[in-house]
Amino acid sequence: MAIAAVCVTLTPAPASAQAPKKAPVDCTQVKCVALTFDDGPGKYAGTLLDTLKKYDAKATFFLEGQYVKSRPQFVKRMAAEGHELGNHSYKHPDFRTLETWEIRAEIKKTQDEIKKAAGVEPKLLRPPYGMADLTVSEIATEFGMPIILWTGGSEDWKTKNVEAIKKKTLEVAKPGSIILMHDWVKQTVDAMPSIVKSLQKKGYHLVTVSDIVKNENLQPGDVFPVPEGWEK
Ligand SMILES: [Zn+2]
Repeated sequence: MAIAAVCVTLTPAPASAQAPKKAPVDCTQVKCVALTFDDGPGKYAGTLLDTLKKYDAKATFFLEGQYVKSRPQFVKRMAAEGHELGNHSYKHPDFRTLETWEIRAEIKKTQDEIKKAAGVEPKLLRPPYGMADLTVSEIATEFGMPIILWTGGSEDWKTKNVEAIKKKTLEVAKPGSIILMHDWVKQTVDAMPSIVKSLQKKGYHLVTVSDIVKNENLQPGDVFPVPEGWEK
């Protein structure tokens, strides 16, 4: 912050050349929800990004390395448009069935693909199926990442119905919610304009996961929200 202020002082740009800087959303003061999209980038990601852009909404994408490799342009766009990128493994195996070296490889390969595509490295991990155990937590610690699960699901993969997805999503949306969705489900992408409009009408700001957990002081290897019975 201090450095930014010094830069501004030293090299003042004409006011007209400076984009208006929007104040960051403070989720302790306003209602926030984080929509999260897993397993992508899916083939409908472009349409989804158009919708998010239109309504000035941010989202978090937990990406699969194999699709980052095949659809890097979407990943680049996600980062450029202010969305958060998370790691969701390379090929979506249940981490609990893997050897530790295999889990590390799944995470590392995905970090590398995302870095290659978008120039940024994810700081959040969501293991496939949300399945984490102590081994996964330890490996996440090595990578410096907390593990992010969700507080509610849209059940889009199950219903694949625009109205049902909208209904469920609005039902689970509470201040501070992290909602699980999938951008490979066409009906989710179709439902998004209506979902975003409804949430914003209820006063919600659509923010990234990092905005939501800002005050949780999450450490690498921590799991959030903490699942029932989780002990570290
Ligand atoms: Zn998944």
